[in-house]
Amino acid sequence: MKKYTLFFIPVFFFCLSVMNLTLITAENKKAQIISAVSGYTIFIDPGHGGKDNGTSYNTVVEDEINLSIANKIYERLLEDQARVLISRVADYDLSDVYAKNHKIQDLNKRIEYMKNCHADVFVSIHLNAYRDENVSGAQVFYKSNLDESKKFASIMQKNLNQLNEKEKKPKTGDYYLFKNTGKINGIIIECGFLSNSLERKKLTSEKYQKKVAECIHEGIISYFETKGRI
Ligand SMILES: [Zn+2]
Repeated sequence: MKKYTLFFIPVFFFCLSVMNLTLITAENKKAQIISAVSGYTIFIDPGHGGKDNGTSYNTVVEDEINLSIANKIYERLLEDQARVLISRVADYDLSDVYAKNHKIQDLNKRIEYMKNCHADVFVSIHLNAYRDENVSGAQVFYKSNLDESKKFASIMQKNLNQLNEKEKKPKTGDYYLFKNTGKINGIIIECGFLSNSLERKKLTSEKYQKKVAECIHEGIISYFETKGRI
């Protein structure tokens, strides 16, 4: 046997064992994630849709970006074998043609949907805008009357701060969705500001939308990992 062959054999088996170990670790991680979300129902809510574009800047509209980010989160959760539902899958709102108030009926339908599917948590995806165009960053909001919502928002905000120039703290908000969902745990995420030119550019790119979705997905998993088994 040649010298280099004698060297090659142990190196080959060493590489094989490292590969095997990496595979086992990845499999364990996957199993942990599946176990963390198992038994829970997660409701993903891409804000606005249809005639309601949400906030906008020239041709850049909030509802399209919300949907793109939300779909990515939804797909990642499906891979985790979670029970996950989404309020809309295309560019429409949930109100009837003859609704007196489209906005309120749309929100009520979303709330009805999440109640009917017995959602344990909801994650509503939005984008922000502000008159001061220097303001940027993802901001998480929680229900002031629910400790679990605050806990969920804190975990999520910490995760999203990886994308933010400046660290943000989760905030409470006087949202219709919060006031009308009773004890259902939930958060609203404003993923960034369309009024900030740099953030607007990033938010319109598929790559950054994916990054935001990955961050939110990780935040959801981290939250359920703290809850333990039910
Ligand atoms: Zn919005």
